[in-house]
Amino acid sequence: MIAHVHVDAPVITIDRPFDYEVPEQFEALIEPGMRVSVPFGSRRLLGIVVGTSDGTRDGLKPLEALLDEESSLTDELLALSIHVKETTLCFRSSALLAMLPAALKVSYDKEIKEGHVPDGVRLGTHLSEYPKEVQSVILGLAKKGELILAPVLKEKKTVKTDVVVELLDATVVPKRAKKQLEAVDLLKETPRMYWSALRQIGLTRPQLQKLADLGAVRLTEVELNRDPYATIEQVEESVQLNDSQASAVLAIQEAEAGETLLVHGVTGSGKTEVYLESIGQVIDEGKQAILLVPEISLTPMMVKRFKRRFGDRVAVLHSALSKGEKYDEWRKIKRNEVDVVVGARSAIFAPLDRLGLIILDEEHETTYKQEENPRYHARDVAIWRARYHGCPVVLGSATPSLESYARAQKGVYRYLHLKERYGGEMPPVHIIDMRRELAKGNTTMFSEELFQGILDRIEKKEQCVILLNRRGFTTFVMCRDCGEGMTCPHCAVNLTYHQYGDRLKCHYCGYEVGMPSTCPSCNSKKIKQFGSGTQKIETELLNRIPEARIIRMDQDTTSRKGSHEQLLRRFEEGEADILLGTQMIAKGLDFPNVTLVGVLAADATLGMPDFRATERTFQLVTQVAGRAGRGKLPGEAFVQTYNPDHYVIETASEHDYETFFAKEMGLRQVGNHPPYWFLTLVTFSAKNPLVAKAEAELFASDFLQAHVENSRLNGPMPAPLSKLKNAYRYQVFIKTKQPDTLYAELARLQQARAKAISKKEYQMSIDVNPYVFM
Ligand code: ADP
Ligand code: ZN
Ligand code: ZN
Repeated sequence: MIAHVHVDAPVITIDRPFDYEVPEQFEALIEPGMRVSVPFGSRRLLGIVVGTSDGTRDGLKPLEALLDEESSLTDELLALSIHVKETTLCFRSSALLAMLPAALKVSYDKEIKEGHVPDGVRLGTHLSEYPKEVQSVILGLAKKGELILAPVLKEKKTVKTDVVVELLDATVVPKRAKKQLEAVDLLKETPRMYWSALRQIGLTRPQLQKLADLGAVRLTEVELNRDPYATIEQVEESVQLNDSQASAVLAIQEAEAGETLLVHGVTGSGKTEVYLESIGQVIDEGKQAILLVPEISLTPMMVKRFKRRFGDRVAVLHSALSKGEKYDEWRKIKRNEVDVVVGARSAIFAPLDRLGLIILDEEHETTYKQEENPRYHARDVAIWRARYHGCPVVLGSATPSLESYARAQKGVYRYLHLKERYGGEMPPVHIIDMRRELAKGNTTMFSEELFQGILDRIEKKEQCVILLNRRGFTTFVMCRDCGEGMTCPHCAVNLTYHQYGDRLKCHYCGYEVGMPSTCPSCNSKKIKQFGSGTQKIETELLNRIPEARIIRMDQDTTSRKGSHEQLLRRFEEGEADILLGTQMIAKGLDFPNVTLVGVLAADATLGMPDFRATERTFQLVTQVAGRAGRGKLPGEAFVQTYNPDHYVIETASEHDYETFFAKEMGLRQVGNHPPYWFLTLVTFSAKNPLVAKAEAELFASDFLQAHVENSRLNGPMPAPLSKLKNAYRYQVFIKTKQPDTLYAELARLQQARAKAISKKEYQMSIDVNPYVFM
């Protein structure tokens, strides 16, 4: 017997199945989709069996071991990997591995746990301790269910505790203790900090203990990474759907096999109720559902509603779970012990085999696209799987992506509209012209109206959400004397300032240095952070309203796993008046007591060099304004901008998606942008800039010679991020109306370069339907 095996080596020259002899003792056990260990050159690699055939051939090496008792990937997922390869131009092995939980991407051993063991085999030992023949006997028994094997991961045990450090008395710290004083200074700003954050400044554990012994701080050990939903109980709730919700549910129920439906529902229209009801029906029919959310830690309330409704029948693939815990969830799914899988992007590969419905909530979010190989979009995978299972796909959003709305208009997707809020009005949105504030002499971050609004809510014990739109500009450092910025030595980008430890970091390659006290080029002391951060705003608010209770959510306060949920829970429980944060607070929050939303620098994202900048800004403003007035109390939103007449700001303030869409589509047509054309970005990078440029030029000329129908090429040109991790980068853009023809041609051009690429002379990366143009 011969096994066809894809090996885990992301090199284009070996992106094809290799044949191995199947030793006799494995013949009855081996199945496509199983993980195996195979000799490859001098190495031993993880491989996935994609097929078997009878007979044998001279010179075949035998495969070494089976790593699964049953296949890890279903026939469906094996077929899907070919589709992912063809439409994203990745290696099939990367597609296959993307479908497995992290724990299965390494080879692992097995513990012989319980059951009948053959002579000479002891419980509690590991499979690898026995000779090959004995191993296959053990695997055979396990397959028959007479023996239970438990995988033992080669995983470092994840730390599950942390220590909360609380400042008690700063004055008892001796002057000589530099590190301790530094820590105490940080604690003066943030009186409760985690040890994991404090150690970033170089404070050691004995130094921390010393502080506690002196009585300067109190230490409390806390547990981390617990299942955040463990305590939620299932409750029988019956909601009465309104007419538009009921007709959406009916349309989903009666959808044709493989049909895609776009549920366009304004914020608070009850899309989640529609999902819950539709999934309930699917379960009643004995089928299963997948619900995708953009980012699971930012949608705790949504997940809670699912847990409450479906209890143990829901598997939540949460990012805060350890590898092992995720693997446990995955195995429950694989054994078909759950009816609903809730998770972010990669949950689309959940190995369910009675799929009856797939839902993508907030379908416009770009987190559904993976930005590394395989560069798949969860929506495309969802549509493929739905066709395979003959079930519908539901795309839900208050601000659909232009691509999806255009498809709905053309009748490719079925369009369902929830025009009104459930039991309420859309909040009025006030546009505030910040130029006028400036003319009035107001140089603070808050307009008079917004500030009064906040005061008023604090008095009434209602809550506020304040968004600082700061994607695109981070806190960077520049010398005020010579103008020199601090840039990464390996990448052509500014370093970002981090408060913890007073350090500068490169967000692309991880390089970091301490914040210098003088300018490295002119020695001036006037080296300073620029850019307006949430921290600065928090300070400004506290100076003006000392009694305000503020929860700040940004990169600094949410770097630890589980911290998102914790901050949101505190806000939900009324522990703060104001939730202040970056983009991450714009999504999916449903707090009934929030009656005011403020958007600072609404237009900050408009100027970004990306044809989707307008669409992103529209989505952001609409979504965050939609957080106001979701309960019984009416809400309102204030949008501060220097571009009050911009069509994005105007249409977003009027909750007018249709006008925005019409205007934007006109611009996309003129600019030859998606959705009128399918876009592909090809990037060449090499340590030698001349090589990168020459390869990009050669590619462009080869492409033009191929005369791909209905396609155009732009470039090559240097990438905006012209140097990354010491490699120089050039880009080529290709637009097409015939994606399948284009992808086939690109695969050919990629294959022709396989040798040079595997020798690492340069790299070529293909991004189909890109969202990031750096
Ligand atoms: P969306 O997902 O569209 O933003 P939600 O499903 O979160 O909207 O609904 C907004 C609020 O209205 C929620 O608090 C929800 O419980 C409530 N709601 C929506 N539909 C109903 C209904 N049919 N019956 C009772 N409450 C509803
Ligand atoms: Zn200088
Ligand atoms: Zn860098």
